[in-house]
Amino acid sequence: MIDNHLPTGELQALDAAHHMHPFTEGAALAKKGARIITSAKGVWLTDSEGEEILDAMAGLWCVNIGYGRDELVDAAARQMKQLPFYNTFFQTSHVPAIMLAKRLAELAPGALNHVFFNGSGSDSNDTNLRLVRHYWAAKGQPERKVVISRWNGYHGSTMGAASLGGMKGMHAQGGLPIPDIAHIDQPDWWSEGGDMTPDEFGLERARQLESKIEEIGADKVAAFIAEPVQGAGGVIVPPESYWPEIQRITQKYGILLIADEVITGFGRTGNWFGSQTMSITPDIMTCAKGITSGYIPLGASIVSTEIFDTLNAAEEFAHGYTYSGHPVACAVALENLRILEEEGIVERAGKETAPYLKEKWQSLADHPLVGEAKIVGMMGSIALTPNKATRAKFAAPAGTVGYICRERCFANNLVMRHVGDRMIISPPLVISKDEIDTLIARARLSLDETYEKIKAEGLY
Ligand code: PMP
Repeated sequence: MIDNHLPTGELQALDAAHHMHPFTEGAALAKKGARIITSAKGVWLTDSEGEEILDAMAGLWCVNIGYGRDELVDAAARQMKQLPFYNTFFQTSHVPAIMLAKRLAELAPGALNHVFFNGSGSDSNDTNLRLVRHYWAAKGQPERKVVISRWNGYHGSTMGAASLGGMKGMHAQGGLPIPDIAHIDQPDWWSEGGDMTPDEFGLERARQLESKIEEIGADKVAAFIAEPVQGAGGVIVPPESYWPEIQRITQKYGILLIADEVITGFGRTGNWFGSQTMSITPDIMTCAKGITSGYIPLGASIVSTEIFDTLNAAEEFAHGYTYSGHPVACAVALENLRILEEEGIVERAGKETAPYLKEKWQSLADHPLVGEAKIVGMMGSIALTPNKATRAKFAAPAGTVGYICRERCFANNLVMRHVGDRMIISPPLVISKDEIDTLIARARLSLDETYEKIKAEGLY
């Protein structure tokens, strides 16, 4: 049993001494001390000081079902007793992988009926990168290698996935991107839309895909990958004109469309998949996070029948992970999907609580610091600005005010994340209307405190 009762200071010192945190300035954290989370239930976290914190990020956008569901624990324990591990290489299979692949084929839209299992979102995108190149080679077009993606998109942290992503800070460390990846601009109207209307801007950004394909040569382009709604980039909801135009262009040039549904999958946008919310028909979907509600790691690449048939007719795809289709992860995913469906969690979030959240979230736009308030289903963002009319940026470096606001939220026992000067939420889908009221009240209080603080510090 792990000792949950050591004093906070001792845990923080041990953490600083031995634990390397992802995406964290180690020295700064060591000085401050990490907040230690010890347990959780529903949408509430408890820390080592006994504070109760409303988790408006569902962990890392993943705990769709909420914390503390014993059914998932029992499913894992049963599977561990029966068959804790077996691989799906060398002509073997097992029941959890078979049943989960079948279930995902039922849930996923259209012809997305075939599943390659991975361990996470990042390695699912690495699978996709290799898979689309292998697919085109199998079709006799091996020169179709380039995958186009977007600046400020996020597809993971491995060499392949971070190259597909458009985070310049990540590329700068370690010589990324790898060859044959190209990027176009993102559809972020608030920051980059200038004098255009959102719809004009959406079309302009989508048409960059066409220009990029023409520049590279369509016979060299394998696929376009994008998140239906950018998550880590700041919950950027694209203008309505954007996705139909992207779909038209991918069809015109016959290039594959990969929807990275790692965040948007499993109810996050109000439907089972973000592709449904955005009315797109991808050839491949990347899944992770909500597939198990984060209780255990699992990723999946769900591909169309046409891709599946092409790959089956070709030489073996020389690719796979030890944990591809891990039986315990698959058993937990099956139980998670059963509960999400049978308890109507996805449906209720889409029809009742997300519309309620939308109304409350958009009411924050009357705050002096808040520019646009965007939300789709259960993922939302607000842009902080010193001037709403001109959509101005703060004079202080990007992220300064966002960080202050994040710190105020944390002090007020609300987990809300900042991306630059955007504040973002993605709560568990089970959040109740009362809890939404608490979320909004704490967000507003934190915005008020941020406003006072930046005025006092001359940042406004
Ligand atoms: N794709 C998207 C859209 C993501 O948001 C993330 C993680 N935030 C990933 C891929 C990578 O997933 P993982 O962290 O599980 O590797």
